[in-house]
Amino acid sequence: MTKVGTVYLVGAGPGDPDLLTLRAVRLLRHAELVVHDGLVDPAVLALAGPQARFVSVAKRRARHTLPQEEINALLVREALAGRDVVRLKGGDPFVFGRGGEEAEACHAAGVPVEVVPGVTSALGAAAAAQIPLTHRDCASVVSFVAGQCKGLSEQDWSGLAGKGRTLVIYMGVKTASQIAEKLMADGLAPDMPLAVIESACRPEMRVLRAPLAGLPELVERARVKSPALIVIGEVTAREDVFVGRFAREFAL
Ligand code: SAH
Repeated sequence: MTKVGTVYLVGAGPGDPDLLTLRAVRLLRHAELVVHDGLVDPAVLALAGPQARFVSVAKRRARHTLPQEEINALLVREALAGRDVVRLKGGDPFVFGRGGEEAEACHAAGVPVEVVPGVTSALGAAAAAQIPLTHRDCASVVSFVAGQCKGLSEQDWSGLAGKGRTLVIYMGVKTASQIAEKLMADGLAPDMPLAVIESACRPEMRVLRAPLAGLPELVERARVKSPALIVIGEVTAREDVFVGRFAREFAL
């Protein structure tokens, strides 16, 4: 009987390979098969050994990924054929990463799973931009939400942003205008400060700031590209050296 392989759902962090866990690096070094998505930085993939075979599940040019069921089927098929699979995912596998779906598919097929956490981009971006997500003076609640089109209008974000709170929006670049409208309709002040952090923890990182009402214009004028996070709350407006270093050019 063939031994069943293990699927390792590994968080690759937001970009900089120095932010990987030791467990992630050890698994990568010995990996025979690495299945990764488009957000994983090439510098992270470069840590794999010469024996590694890579399968990308992102069709970069077409800008969409393999359907999730096909990714699940690929992981299960390889593991049942006896191979250990390192499934590398940007940030943390269990934060907007569909790691839950992949783990469930493996469990259903009797394939053992190990999950290796990664630095989710909200935490990496906050650190790199020196924006504390909580601060005793102005924020004691942090929420992470997904801002992509699907379901945006049905999501209830009321109370997640505002005084004393920090809201971090993943996947919100394309829907920036709807996001600003939605939050203001929920009662958030148009002058609530925010920061957009693009390509966090990568050499091309940018940190851009605006009041909430200026978000659509900021995204357009600065040509903000994915991946980027929108951080909303007073923590983004505290005086620090980075405000000058990254933001002056695009401050509205
Ligand atoms: N599992 C990932 C999130 C995947 S969803 C994590 O834990 O970070 C993809 C979204 O993550 C992007 O649309 C963007 O909002 C955010 N993101 C991922 N990497 C990023 C980076 N380096 N800089 C800014 N945002 C990033």
